Amino acid sequence: MSSVETPSEVDLLIVGAGPTGLYAAYYAGFRELSTAIVDSLPEAGGQVTAMYPEKQIFDVAGFPSIIGRDLVSALVEQANQFKPAYLLGRKARTVTELDDGGYLVGLDDGAELRAGAILITAGMGEFSPRPLPAGDGWLGRGMVHFVPALEEHRDQHVVVVGGGDSAFDWALSLHPIAKSVTIVHRRNKFRAFAATVRQVRELGVPIITDAQVTALRGDDAGLVEVELAVASDPAPVVLPAQTVVAALGFTADLGPIESWGLEITRRAVTVDTTMKTARERIYAAGDIAAYPGKVKLIATGFGEAATAVNNIAVALNPDAHLFPGHSSDVS
Ligand SMILES: Cc1cc2nc3c(=O)[nH]c(=O)nc-3n(C[C@H](O)[C@H](O)[C@H](O)COP(=O)(O)OP(=O)(O)OC[C@H]3O[C@@H](n4cnc5c(N)ncnc54)[C@H](O)[C@@H]3O)c2cc1C
Repeated sequence: MSSVETPSEVDLLIVGAGPTGLYAAYYAGFRELSTAIVDSLPEAGGQVTAMYPEKQIFDVAGFPSIIGRDLVSALVEQANQFKPAYLLGRKARTVTELDDGGYLVGLDDGAELRAGAILITAGMGEFSPRPLPAGDGWLGRGMVHFVPALEEHRDQHVVVVGGGDSAFDWALSLHPIAKSVTIVHRRNKFRAFAATVRQVRELGVPIITDAQVTALRGDDAGLVEVELAVASDPAPVVLPAQTVVAALGFTADLGPIESWGLEITRRAVTVDTTMKTARERIYAAGDIAAYPGKVKLIATGFGEAATAVNNIAVALNPDAHLFPGHSSDVS
């Protein structure tokens, strides 16, 4: 999957490429709707990719357990049967109603697209990785926030900065592949699950605590080393590194969605039983959708996505059936 040019018009624009948005993209294709899916992050998968890519998930129907990264790959593969346009690293900013009942959606890069309907699957809002101050200018030149392809780091020295789940998850998954992995954290306490921290320690991954990254250095070929200020050491510590994974967490911001004329309570969008918001042809599903009794889970989001897309199919074409037929009947 790779990000593409913004199409000028789609039947359905999905805002958020987390598990709910990805499943909705599959479902929209099944309902023969052309679809684009926009996400502020450069990778699909929402919270799963950003916060717990290597964790086992035990409560997704049909999988007694599945690693987050594998669930996202399978969702992308399922959606890709219908070739949705992925607009990754872009944010949906403005929504303007058109005379035909559809919407003109403005993105942060200045692009605009017409959408017959909008499905908001924006979770907690748009994610932005917290920056590593010393990493200014190094993003994409040795510093990353995600590790989508582990193999790219084979035989590299990797420094992972952070003390949360994603930092320890990346360290665990890179350990068998990289020449070395070192975790650097500014405190001596970790937010990551204790079991993951224990696993990383048992593997012998060095963990440098009470330490700040003060400089990244390299040449035209890329990153070469990382300098640290470590509280227990008066001299700077220098580590070889071809990659720095800045896993410092994410900020989430509902931001522009708050100005789209929807009913928003406690950072969630109110929907009815069809998943429709206060505006015609704008629906919401997944963590961002609110109704009495809501439970925020991946499984819930999948069901809500199917409900939303089937209702959107009818909103766009009143002659369409709400019930889609069984996918098992389609060859
Ligand atoms: C550590 C952790 C462990 C978890 N474990 C489980 C578990 O075991 N089982 C389970 O069911 N659930 C679990 N969850 C919860 C689960 O991850 C969420 O319920 C699920 O990710 C919600 O999916 P979503 O697609 O609705 O939203 P999200 O995954 O939050 O995705 C929303 C996406 O929308 C994007 N976005 C938002 N606004 C915009 C905008 N304006 N423009 C562009 N993009 C935008 C965001 O960048 C984000 O990528 C866990 C959560 C965490 C944090």
